[in-house]
Amino acid sequence: MLTIDGSTGEGGGQILRTSLSLAMVTGQPVRIEHIRAKRPKPGLMRQHLACVLAAQAVSGAQVSGAELGSQTLVFEPGALRPGEHTFAIGSAGSCLLVLQTVLPALMLADAPSQLKLSGGTHNPLAPNFHFIERAFLPQLARLGVKVEATLRRHGFYPAGGGEMVATIEPAVGGLRPVDLLERGAVGEAFAESLVAAVPRRVAERELALLKDALGWSDEQLRVPNVRQNEGPGNALIATLGFEHVTEVFTSFGEKSLSSEQVAKRLLRQMKEYAASTAAAGPYLADQLALPWALAVHQTGRAAAYTCSEVTEHTRTNLEVIQRFLPLRADLKREDARRWRLSWEPMG
Ligand code: AMP
Repeated sequence: MLTIDGSTGEGGGQILRTSLSLAMVTGQPVRIEHIRAKRPKPGLMRQHLACVLAAQAVSGAQVSGAELGSQTLVFEPGALRPGEHTFAIGSAGSCLLVLQTVLPALMLADAPSQLKLSGGTHNPLAPNFHFIERAFLPQLARLGVKVEATLRRHGFYPAGGGEMVATIEPAVGGLRPVDLLERGAVGEAFAESLVAAVPRRVAERELALLKDALGWSDEQLRVPNVRQNEGPGNALIATLGFEHVTEVFTSFGEKSLSSEQVAKRLLRQMKEYAASTAAAGPYLADQLALPWALAVHQTGRAAAYTCSEVTEHTRTNLEVIQRFLPLRADLKREDARRWRLSWEPMG
């Protein structure tokens, strides 16, 4: 049994999720200790427990320690069970973090799956639906995996109540390792302010500030229709399309923040990405690590991507992946705002 120390590096929920994903993919039993030791409330919270239970349902695992507050978990995966699964995460627990946990195993299974998820679809500190749909899934498609995600109902933190469906078609003939080094030609760029049970003028003020700062046209500044009973919630989302990558940056409205502050937070993320020539921003970088590693592991061929930043989160993810798979993550700084991460088979 492999033992993973959940207190290393970033010390949060990612160590748990990546360990669960890789235990399912490799069939390797794992014991995770000191779960979320660096967080104010350590151990499994509802969100993390939802990920453990989903992983158990998908892999028929024997599990001990799957309780709220538990700081040790033993997870012994069985045979994968692709097919239909429904995961009700409860309150605003993130649907996307549950998807992130089970997707690596299901995308390598021998049959398609359909997941129905309910909970939060737009949570701070987690990938939101639009990020996954526009930034993450197209990169999986380049590796050969087709995932279609449909948003049925928005679920904002803290009310939740969102619903989404994901259909997963595993890669025919296995994953294809690919490089993602350059963004390529500039494509469509636009921003949306989602407002549900929040006054429309909040959206208008946020977008007005973006218009001033970026000089974008009215057509690029959108207030999509969101059913008002899906709130309360406000998310300001920028989508930056390029030939080889689409990046999505999000800033959430909060009671204590002015619309201008929400817009400024988004602009800060966009400016950092604009100052770099790398393909992936900081969040996409940590989320691509596992699929890229799996493609390299399956084929024995190296593959790389570039990113604007290497966060503690990403470094921790690389460490956990290297505990499970015989791969080396070669990280090179190419300039102040550009890193190249290359996964290489060992030996
Ligand atoms: P943790 O903090 O360990 O629970 O992990 C958070 C996860 O959410 C990581 O996969 C992050 O990449 C992801 N994440 C957090 N914030 C964002 C964001 N604004 N956009 C996309 N992904 C995010």
